[in-house]
Amino acid sequence: MALEFFDTHCHVHEITADLTPVHDKWFADKAERSAESVLEAARGAGVTRMLAIGTTLADSKLAVQFVGAHEGVWASIGIHPHEAKDHVQAEVQAEFAALITQPKVVAVGECGLDYFYGLSPKADQEAVLRFQIELALTHGVPLSFHVREAFEDFWPIFESYQGVRGVLHSFTDTQANLERALGHGLYIGVNGIATFTRDEAQHVIYRTIPQHRLLLETDAPFLTPKPFRGKVCEPKHVVHTAEFLAGLRGESVAGLASATTTNAQELFRIQHT
Ligand SMILES: [Zn+2]
Repeated sequence: MALEFFDTHCHVHEITADLTPVHDKWFADKAERSAESVLEAARGAGVTRMLAIGTTLADSKLAVQFVGAHEGVWASIGIHPHEAKDHVQAEVQAEFAALITQPKVVAVGECGLDYFYGLSPKADQEAVLRFQIELALTHGVPLSFHVREAFEDFWPIFESYQGVRGVLHSFTDTQANLERALGHGLYIGVNGIATFTRDEAQHVIYRTIPQHRLLLETDAPFLTPKPFRGKVCEPKHVVHTAEFLAGLRGESVAGLASATTTNAQELFRIQHT
């Protein structure tokens, strides 16, 4: 049986419109590509399911529109912590919240706190994170969290709610934060960083994540795995992260593909292609 992979975090919809700098990034290596060619290449590599992640109101609308027109792609509507300052207004949030009932919207995020870049004030980041957690809880959907150098503030916010389901996307933090996340039943998203980091502590963490909590992702068009550094990352590249992780963890690629795809299907409640 052919292997099937699930790219649980990509920005593939942004290939179609110039809303944020992510659009330009899709063409940074000057290769000819279209949404169709990218999705076709993904399917050809066994990446049969993808989650298109929104980062602003406009970008989330684009994701919803994109997944409506393409098979094998679902949407997560989200406001990235960088963009929080432009999404604190009630009318903006009402428009965003209305998107959640659109077809193929299965999650909220990426949302969280990012103190590394600090592009929005901390108070705005917290307000917009809380708004998204509450929206997800109301509708019974999971969240895709982006937390960078901010776990000390993230945990008290997260722990003030009950029953939050989700994934810590692009996890590159400490063993202590990994254990705290696992204790809350969160999934851990790993991408191409695993293939090129020289940080041995991260390798230990990638080995420690229990198979039933691991999700694969690309964050395409960013974070291209080895050996394709210098090329724009596409969902098809998730296979190389899977191969690397399987080797690191002493697992078969088939076992890892099957487990991570099942995990993602359970988290996002997607059973078909
Ligand atoms: Zn992302």
